[in-house]
Amino acid sequence: MPNLVGIFGGTFDPVHNGHTETIRSLLNLITFKEIRVIPNGIPPHRPSVIASTSERLQMVSMAFNSLNNIVVDDREIKRRGPSYAIDTAKEVINLYDSCSSICWIMGTDAFSSIDSWHRWEEFLDLVNIIVMSRPDKTIDKNTISYKILKERQIDNKEDFISSKKGKVLSIKVRPVKVSSSKIRHNIFSGKPVDEMIFQEVAGFIERTKLYIEKNDSFKD
Ligand code: ATP
Repeated sequence: MPNLVGIFGGTFDPVHNGHTETIRSLLNLITFKEIRVIPNGIPPHRPSVIASTSERLQMVSMAFNSLNNIVVDDREIKRRGPSYAIDTAKEVINLYDSCSSICWIMGTDAFSSIDSWHRWEEFLDLVNIIVMSRPDKTIDKNTISYKILKERQIDNKEDFISSKKGKVLSIKVRPVKVSSSKIRHNIFSGKPVDEMIFQEVAGFIERTKLYIEKNDSFKD
């Protein structure tokens, strides 16, 4: 069986318990050699990111510090220009021997827009994808992403790992109903966020006064 390496990309503005707890449950369900957590630099889909790249990197490191088999990877932050998943996937594939199986990990909401990703067809053929369930975010049956899911879905974990690329595995993880936008909204509105983020991250946000002055639209 090939060694499984995960890539978990995100804006992490800020990182929250939905990110860490879903990865924790994934690690309990599947054996990974490691999961590389990669905050994006200039996200192609997200014009307004509030925390700086360095702040997001620091928060991600704090939040994932207590989990085993996690590597926080700053390659997208260091790269100039937009953070395209396909470029990151190619770079990560080159880090491991050809026996490894590289899979991109994302929530159902991210997978729902996969057909808008840069060179998405090539991306889908390059890596495997794990889609983690996310509360209230299902993949609409009338979409291209749903069609992709049905065409490429594999139910058996071993077959998925062995196939190495082009396949999708749906995993039900312990539901954590939280989002970065909800946290930004709560902080801006003076509401508590303690239940949603790691304590050290909460302290960092308080010290740096992040999300107090600037806010964007909140999506639940
Ligand atoms: P925002 O609310 O600003 O859109 P977000 O909470 O979705 O942010 P991201 O950093 O954009 O956070 O998410 C990174 C990855 O983590 C994505 O693949 C997303 O689907 C997944 N994810 C985020 N929150 C959860 C959650 N609560 N459960 C499962 N997956 C999640």
